[in-house]
Amino acid sequence: MTDNLIHTRKTIMGIDLSFGKTTTTGCGKRRAMERTSTDLAVISCPACRDWRRQDELEMAGMAEAAASAGITESRSGMGPDEFRALAAQHRHAAETI
Ligand SMILES: [Zn+2]
Repeated sequence: MTDNLIHTRKTIMGIDLSFGKTTTTGCGKRRAMERTSTDLAVISCPACRDWRRQDELEMAGMAEAAASAGITESRSGMGPDEFRALAAQHRHAAETI
């Protein structure tokens, strides 16, 4: 153990794909699973919190791009209004990190 911080687990589009005993953190380190979390309330690594903020902004950007392109996702029932709402959620999440 080289630090006492709790790191965020790297997620793909908000989905946690971690398995095994160690995982890659948002700040690019390998850490034991028990030293990581996806819960912002317990993540104490500043670089990981920055990474989460960037990730939320990136997802907001993608949702905004989908909304302005008028994309509709028939399988999930997502249309421009839903993508705009999703973007707002991610922007809000980024602001609260
Ligand atoms: Zn970290």
